[in-house]
This record gives sequence, structure tokens and C-alpha cells, in this order.
Amino acid sequence: MSKKRLLVDMDGVMADVYQQFFKMDEEEYGVRKTLEQVLGKWEREAFKNERAYVTRKGFFREAPVMEGSIEAVKLLNDKFELFVVSAAMEFPNSLPEKLEWLAEHFPFLTWHQLVFCGLKTIVKGDIMIDDHYRNLDHFTGRTILFTQPHNYGHDDKHHERVHSWKEVLEKLL
Ligand SMILES: [Mg+2]
Repeated sequence: MSKKRLLVDMDGVMADVYQQFFKMDEEEYGVRKTLEQVLGKWEREAFKNERAYVTRKGFFREAPVMEGSIEAVKLLNDKFELFVVSAAMEFPNSLPEKLEWLAEHFPFLTWHQLVFCGLKTIVKGDIMIDDHYRNLDHFTGRTILFTQPHNYGHDDKHHERVHSWKEVLEKLL
């Protein structure tokens, strides 16, 4: 039997971009926001200069790895036909940074498995893990919503919500 195709998002799933938002916002305003202050808000609403941060050199390259993601992706990579799918075209400068980031933290993934695209409506597969409804809502397969502050508290009845990579593994292994 052929392996099922699993699509994994980068930002907010493999890469902990919120740590970058908190850090850059604190550097700018001198106060670190609390998680409670940003829960349920869009990134742009939670961090006023979010657009400036994501276009800043190093934003993607220096993003911390999401807890448990390396081990989990390694395990899932054996069981599934796994692709990393990132709507990276929104930020062209992020392309080399994301490639380097993946090579450093996920060296076991090959270039065949990396899909940098525009809208994710173009991609097809059996399972998608993503933190944004705009990507999951159009997907025809099984959809797993990875909890991030911006999607916290929002209705998730159409997608399976997970709060960690540990929960992803419990569902998929
Ligand atoms: Mg994302």
C-alpha cells in the first residue's frame, strides 16, 4: 500500500515564530507582551509592527524550532510521504532563510519534500497540519489545526485541533 501524503506547515507548526514576535516586539517597545494579551488576536493585531518583523533579516532563519517537532517529523517521515508546505512566496526574502533553517534543523528532509508556494489551494494530499484556517478550509483531506495564539478560542469544528507535536503523534502514529 502506498504511503499517505502528509503536508506540514512551517511557520507556527515547525517554526515557533511567536517567539520571534515576542522578542522583536519587546526590543521595540521595551516591554514583553504576555501570552494572554495576544490570545485570539491575529498576528498583525497582536503585534503592531508584525509586517516589519517578518520582512526583517533573520526573522525566519533565527526562529526557534517548535518543541518536539524534530523528533515528530522524523517519525512521521518514515510513515508518510511527507512534504513541508510553506506559503513562502508572500515573503520572497524568506526563501533562502527557510531553506537554511530546514537544512540546519531538519537535515533528514530532502529538497524533493520542500514546497514553497503561494496559495496552498494548489496543494493536494491526504492530511494537512497547519495553524491557519485559510489553508485548512480549502483542503480536501484530513485537516489538523495546530494551536497557536492567533487561532486560540476560534471555532474549530471542521478541523481536528492539536496543542502540541505530542498530540500530532498520538493522532497519526
Ligand atoms: Mg503557518
